[in-house]
Amino acid sequence: MTAHSDFDAIVIGAGLGGLTCAAKLASRGRHVLLLERKPHTGGTSFHFFRQGFSFPMGPLSFSHPNVVLSILKEIGAPDGLDFKRSHFQLLTPDLDIVMSKPLPELEESLCKKFPGEISGIREFFSRIKGIMPLTHERHTWHPDYRLTGDPSSPVPEGGIRALDECDRILAKDIAEDFFGDQTLRNFLGNQSSNAPRMSLSYLASMWDVMSETGIWYPEGGTPRLTSILHNLFNNFGGETQVATPVDKIRVHKGRIEGVVTDDQKIIRSDWVVSNADPKTVFSTLISSDTLPEAFCHAVRTIPYTPSEMCVYLGVDPTQVDFSRMRAPHVFYRKKIQVNASVPPFDFDYREFEVCLWSKKDPQNAPDGKAAVILRSGMAYDLVDEWRTGHRQRKSGYKEWKLDQARRLVRTAEGLLPGLEKSITTIEVATPLTYRDWGYRYKGSLAGWTWQSARAQGLPGKLLITTPFPNLLLAGIFAASELFLGGVPTAMYTGSQAADFILDS
Ligand SMILES: Cc1cc2nc3c(=O)[nH]c(=O)nc-3n(C[C@H](O)[C@H](O)[C@H](O)COP(=O)(O)OP(=O)(O)OC[C@H]3O[C@@H](n4cnc5c(N)ncnc54)[C@H](O)[C@@H]3O)c2cc1C
Repeated sequence: MTAHSDFDAIVIGAGLGGLTCAAKLASRGRHVLLLERKPHTGGTSFHFFRQGFSFPMGPLSFSHPNVVLSILKEIGAPDGLDFKRSHFQLLTPDLDIVMSKPLPELEESLCKKFPGEISGIREFFSRIKGIMPLTHERHTWHPDYRLTGDPSSPVPEGGIRALDECDRILAKDIAEDFFGDQTLRNFLGNQSSNAPRMSLSYLASMWDVMSETGIWYPEGGTPRLTSILHNLFNNFGGETQVATPVDKIRVHKGRIEGVVTDDQKIIRSDWVVSNADPKTVFSTLISSDTLPEAFCHAVRTIPYTPSEMCVYLGVDPTQVDFSRMRAPHVFYRKKIQVNASVPPFDFDYREFEVCLWSKKDPQNAPDGKAAVILRSGMAYDLVDEWRTGHRQRKSGYKEWKLDQARRLVRTAEGLLPGLEKSITTIEVATPLTYRDWGYRYKGSLAGWTWQSARAQGLPGKLLITTPFPNLLLAGIFAASELFLGGVPTAMYTGSQAADFILDS
């Protein structure tokens, strides 16, 4: 800590990215202040309670638990966190398949369902399986995914060039090359009934976690990770102030001096790490005209992933027929309409996720009840007209959102007959909720855009360092794509940001 600083580092935001960074720095003896605008830590990984139900503000489960465990261990967490595998089904008028089966099993069942496409299916699986070893643990050897230190595994021969090439190839082109059938193109090229849009390398990562290494639910849900990290931080002498929004990051002669909180208190530090997203940081928190134009242009113009509407339901399970649900997560589409635009709130023609949340952990619902979550992608701009200010809405908004939620429930009846009548509790989140309660720019869910061609305009794979030498980013927006999935990418970037400071 320099003579003029109050802290070695200030971390803005106590989501999993900020908490990981703060706890790692504190574990290595650094004097750290964690500032969180909400009254609690955890950010999106928080669970809220309604009438005895515990519902997630964000993650339902996540990939790469080994990465999460090894980061926790490095910071000093004891062993003993258990995980349960989550399974996933796609159910549309054209296809009903449990997609989290091992790849060879999936390959055989698709060959049976699509006998005219066997050679394309075989070639596709062989190609994807060839790429998976490169994408699987790329952060352990590929220099673009590390800020400091030596790689922990050797670079596979030709690996860097091969992976770069797969980054540039579009999954859509591969799907069109291999399959004539659009259902198959969408399923194998996007794990969905929607058309592919990601890169081939990202697609390989998605199949790796979906079918091979798995997507997992930690005992106690993601709040368990928050409490482990926050306890470690406290035990190592870290200081936390919740309900303390940062209003500005102070800049002087091209360096960061510290922050100003909402009550205009100035706190000085050698380093600032922001868990707030870069669009917010560089448009609201920092007033500086010294930023490179190319950097500002990329941050301003490259989009984030869109938002969603989420309907949380407490139900009486004796009234619902769950027999079509062959996995606790179902991506469901009731009807298919080819080549026609669908009105935004007509859920019959949209794929959405249905999760039997209490199946993942019975403690998420009171005795004798079940919890069901419906998540449908939704563009922020569709709801913006209702917002009149922070947490303020035009009159009629509550009724309007409940109306949309009821429409979604009615469509979900196709999968879960009896659902509508079984509801005892209902809560609805819209993109406005994710903006005003989640503090996410336009309510974005999952980091930068999935359109790989546009994300390539960002200045690197890791976006942890910034044009300011002592300002870093941590969390899902500190990577150009979620190469490990949401939760582990947030923690990995937080861990890397801490290493960068420790090595400086
Ligand atoms: C609805 C939804 C569903 C999701 N589902 C999944 C899933 O199933 N699996 C998965 O892996 N990931 C999922 N994600 C992504 C998930 O958000 C991440 O995996 C992870 O929780 C993000 O952590 P983070 O640290 O990047 O950010 P956040 O959790 O967003 O934390 C950022 C923190 O910074 C604070 N903050 C912001 N600005 C300021 C300021 N000015 N001053 C002080 N504090 C500030 C915020 O209040 C917040 O606490 C989902 C996200 C959402 C929104």
